[in-house]
Amino acid sequence: MPDRVGIGFDAHPFAAGRELKLGGVAIPHPSGLEGHSDGDALLHALTDAVLGAAGLGSIGDHFPPSDPRWKGADSATFLGKAAELARGRGYSIGNVDAVVVAEAPKLAPHVPAIRARIAGILGTSADAVSVRGTSANGLGFTGRKDGVAAMAVVLLTAGA
Ligand code: MG
Repeated sequence: MPDRVGIGFDAHPFAAGRELKLGGVAIPHPSGLEGHSDGDALLHALTDAVLGAAGLGSIGDHFPPSDPRWKGADSATFLGKAAELARGRGYSIGNVDAVVVAEAPKLAPHVPAIRARIAGILGTSADAVSVRGTSANGLGFTGRKDGVAAMAVVLLTAGA
Protein backbone atom coordinates (compact mmCIF):
# COMPACT_ATOMS: atom_id res chain seq x y z
CA MET A 1 0.00 0.00 0.00
CA PRO A 2 1.34 3.46 -0.82
CA ASP A 3 1.80 6.13 1.83
CA ARG A 4 -1.05 8.64 1.91
CA VAL A 5 -1.25 12.30 2.91
CA GLY A 6 -4.24 14.22 4.19
CA ILE A 7 -5.00 17.85 4.91
CA GLY A 8 -7.35 19.46 7.40
CA PHE A 9 -8.52 22.97 8.20
CA ASP A 10 -10.85 24.38 10.83
CA ALA A 11 -11.74 27.66 12.50
CA HIS A 12 -13.86 28.50 15.53
CA PRO A 13 -14.96 31.83 17.05
CA PHE A 14 -14.01 32.88 20.54
CA ALA A 15 -16.83 32.86 23.08
CA ALA A 16 -16.75 34.15 26.65
CA GLY A 17 -17.27 31.73 29.50
CA ARG A 18 -15.70 28.71 27.82
CA GLU A 19 -12.44 26.94 28.55
CA LEU A 20 -9.92 27.28 25.72
CA LYS A 21 -8.83 23.88 24.44
CA LEU A 22 -6.20 23.58 21.70
CA GLY A 23 -4.56 20.31 20.80
CA GLY A 24 -6.33 18.65 23.70
CA VAL A 25 -4.69 20.97 26.22
CA ALA A 26 -6.49 23.55 28.37
CA ILE A 27 -4.86 26.94 27.83
CA PRO A 28 -5.41 29.86 30.19
CA HIS A 29 -7.24 32.61 28.25
CA PRO A 30 -10.18 34.97 28.93
CA SER A 31 -12.34 33.12 26.37
CA GLY A 32 -12.63 29.70 24.79
CA LEU A 33 -13.81 28.49 21.40
CA GLU A 34 -17.46 28.17 20.51
CA GLY A 35 -18.54 24.86 19.04
CA HIS A 36 -20.91 21.95 19.47
CA SER A 37 -18.04 19.97 20.99
CA ASP A 38 -15.27 21.56 23.03
CA GLY A 39 -14.39 23.70 19.97
CA ASP A 40 -10.81 22.44 19.71
CA ALA A 41 -10.03 23.67 16.17
CA LEU A 42 -6.57 22.06 16.15
CA LEU A 43 -7.85 18.58 16.98
CA HIS A 44 -10.65 19.04 14.44
CA ALA A 45 -8.16 19.96 11.68
CA LEU A 46 -6.03 16.95 12.63
CA THR A 47 -9.05 14.65 12.65
CA ASP A 48 -9.99 15.78 9.14
CA ALA A 49 -6.39 15.29 7.98
CA VAL A 50 -6.29 11.70 9.31
CA LEU A 51 -9.69 10.88 7.82
CA GLY A 52 -8.72 12.53 4.53
CA ALA A 53 -5.47 10.61 4.30
CA ALA A 54 -7.32 7.35 4.93
CA GLY A 55 -10.01 8.22 2.38
CA LEU A 56 -12.67 8.04 5.08
CA GLY A 57 -14.54 11.30 4.57
CA SER A 58 -14.74 14.16 7.04
CA ILE A 59 -15.19 14.84 10.73
CA GLY A 60 -18.76 15.94 9.97
CA ASP A 61 -19.52 12.55 8.42
CA HIS A 62 -18.38 10.66 11.52
CA PHE A 63 -19.31 13.11 14.30
CA PRO A 64 -22.16 15.31 12.99
CA PRO A 65 -22.97 18.39 15.13
CA SER A 66 -26.62 17.36 14.82
CA ASP A 67 -25.88 14.32 17.01
CA PRO A 68 -26.47 15.14 20.69
CA ARG A 69 -23.83 12.55 21.65
CA TRP A 70 -21.15 15.04 20.60
CA LYS A 71 -22.48 18.05 22.49
CA GLY A 72 -19.63 19.31 24.65
CA ALA A 73 -17.56 16.31 23.57
CA ASP A 74 -13.83 16.08 24.22
CA SER A 75 -12.42 16.38 20.70
CA ALA A 76 -9.70 13.88 21.61
CA THR A 77 -12.45 11.30 21.09
CA PHE A 78 -12.75 12.37 17.43
CA LEU A 79 -9.03 12.23 16.70
CA GLY A 80 -8.58 8.95 18.56
CA LYS A 81 -11.43 7.37 16.61
CA ALA A 82 -10.05 8.68 13.29
CA ALA A 83 -6.64 7.15 14.08
CA GLU A 84 -8.33 3.87 15.02
CA LEU A 85 -10.20 3.84 11.70
CA ALA A 86 -6.94 4.52 9.81
CA ARG A 87 -5.24 1.65 11.67
CA GLY A 88 -8.19 -0.52 10.71
CA ARG A 89 -7.29 0.18 7.09
CA GLY A 90 -3.72 -0.99 7.72
CA TYR A 91 -2.08 2.39 8.25
CA SER A 92 -0.09 3.96 11.05
CA ILE A 93 0.79 7.59 11.63
CA GLY A 94 3.99 8.59 9.84
CA ASN A 95 4.07 12.18 11.04
CA VAL A 96 1.79 15.16 11.50
CA ASP A 97 2.45 18.85 11.11
CA ALA A 98 0.04 21.56 12.19
CA VAL A 99 -0.20 25.33 12.40
CA VAL A 100 -2.47 27.33 14.68
CA VAL A 101 -3.26 30.86 13.47
CA ALA A 102 -4.11 33.17 16.37
CA GLU A 103 -3.27 36.69 17.44
CA ALA A 104 -3.65 35.53 21.04
CA PRO A 105 -2.89 33.54 23.05
CA LYS A 106 0.68 32.80 22.06
CA LEU A 107 1.02 29.07 21.50
CA ALA A 108 4.77 28.63 22.06
CA PRO A 109 4.68 28.02 25.84
CA HIS A 110 2.09 25.27 25.33
CA VAL A 111 3.67 23.49 22.35
CA PRO A 112 5.50 20.76 24.30
CA ALA A 113 2.30 19.79 26.16
CA ILE A 114 0.26 19.88 22.96
CA ARG A 115 2.72 17.69 21.06
CA ALA A 116 2.75 15.16 23.88
CA ARG A 117 -1.03 15.15 24.11
CA ILE A 118 -1.57 14.71 20.36
CA ALA A 119 1.05 11.95 20.27
CA GLY A 120 -0.80 10.21 23.08
CA ILE A 121 -4.13 10.44 21.28
CA LEU A 122 -2.63 9.16 18.03
CA GLY A 123 -0.57 6.43 19.67
CA THR A 124 2.69 7.75 18.24
CA SER A 125 5.73 9.56 19.62
CA ALA A 126 5.98 13.31 20.17
CA ASP A 127 8.86 13.22 17.67
CA ALA A 128 6.29 12.53 14.96
CA VAL A 129 4.12 15.49 15.94
CA SER A 130 5.01 19.04 14.97
CA VAL A 131 2.84 21.97 16.07
CA ARG A 132 3.47 25.69 16.00
CA GLY A 133 1.64 28.93 16.33
CA THR A 134 1.64 31.84 13.96
CA SER A 135 -0.35 35.02 13.50
CA ALA A 136 -1.91 36.64 10.45
CA ASN A 137 -0.26 39.94 11.42
CA GLY A 138 -3.51 41.58 12.39
CA LEU A 139 -5.41 40.55 9.24
CA GLY A 140 -8.87 39.02 9.19
CA PHE A 141 -10.81 37.24 11.92
CA THR A 142 -7.75 35.91 13.70
CA GLY A 143 -6.15 39.35 13.56
CA ARG A 144 -9.24 40.88 15.16
CA LYS A 145 -9.03 38.18 17.84
CA ASP A 146 -12.48 36.95 16.83
CA GLY A 147 -11.30 33.36 16.65
CA VAL A 148 -8.63 30.79 15.89
CA ALA A 149 -7.83 28.85 12.73
CA ALA A 150 -5.85 25.65 12.45
CA MET A 151 -4.48 23.58 9.59
CA ALA A 152 -2.81 20.21 9.59
CA VAL A 153 -1.24 17.63 7.34
CA VAL A 154 -0.85 13.97 8.18
CA LEU A 155 1.21 11.25 6.53
CA LEU A 156 -0.12 7.73 6.90
CA THR A 157 2.29 4.87 6.26
CA ALA A 158 1.40 1.28 5.57
CA GLY A 159 1.85 -1.18 8.41
CA ALA A 160 1.93 -1.02 12.19
MG1 MG B 1 -14.51 22.31 14.24
